[in-house]
Amino acid sequence: MGIKVLISVDMEGVAGIVHPAETTPERYDYERGRRLMTAEANAVVAGVIDAEPTAEVLVADSHGSYRNILPEELDQRARLIRGKPREMGMLAGLEAGAQVAMFVGYHARAGASGAVLAHTIADALLDVRINGRSYGEIGINTLLAGSYGVPVVLASGDEAACDEFSALAPRAVTVPVKRGLGQHAADTLHPRKAQDRLRQGAGQAMQLHADNPPNLASQPLQVEVDLHQPRSADLSALIPSVTRSGRTVVFTAETMTAAYGMLQLIALLTQIGP
Ligand SMILES: [Zn+2]
Repeated sequence: MGIKVLISVDMEGVAGIVHPAETTPERYDYERGRRLMTAEANAVVAGVIDAEPTAEVLVADSHGSYRNILPEELDQRARLIRGKPREMGMLAGLEAGAQVAMFVGYHARAGASGAVLAHTIADALLDVRINGRSYGEIGINTLLAGSYGVPVVLASGDEAACDEFSALAPRAVTVPVKRGLGQHAADTLHPRKAQDRLRQGAGQAMQLHADNPPNLASQPLQVEVDLHQPRSADLSALIPSVTRSGRTVVFTAETMTAAYGMLQLIALLTQIGP
């Protein structure tokens, strides 16, 4: 068996997508959004296999319900990781021995400017800081992969997302597919053009992957989460070991996996209705 590659695919950073109506099941353009997402996943699978014909490719559907990619339309050379909850969330497959990771269709962190559909895990989270530094999903997931010794060798999304990733992994490949003009507006490449660039970028990333060291955070990790609603902070503070100060909740984790599990849980708690 060849190298094991994990491709984590989100939706907000896919070419052509600018609005929640395109990323939310049962809204009018969602069926189109999920096809665009599946096509970008396929472009990256093809690029990986162009460069490494024996690669073992895992695609982790990593948006919302984690049930967006159309399984029957995914490149059959890949396996699909689908559905939630799951311990490793957006990076399910790391625990199965992935050796390199790629982030496709990713978006910038909450509060980033010029960024399409920017948020961090859930809209109710205003910021996440690890060891005092603010991270979005790109940063959190890069550190999670790093804690498994896995480098992230490619990221795609809008220009803001790509810049966020380059600040952490300057030698990795980025594929910007649109330029944010606002939270719900972008100047976007044609989807087919974006898919061509993704295929090429994925091949290039496989050739250069040995140049990318995994990103590591010093442990134990001090994690702070700023929440939009005081009630979400009340709920989070019910978790033993979580302390609350105003709308910020704080916890310490021994490992990135533990920190990530706690972040997933806090995000779920923000979705519990009154
Ligand atoms: Zn998403």
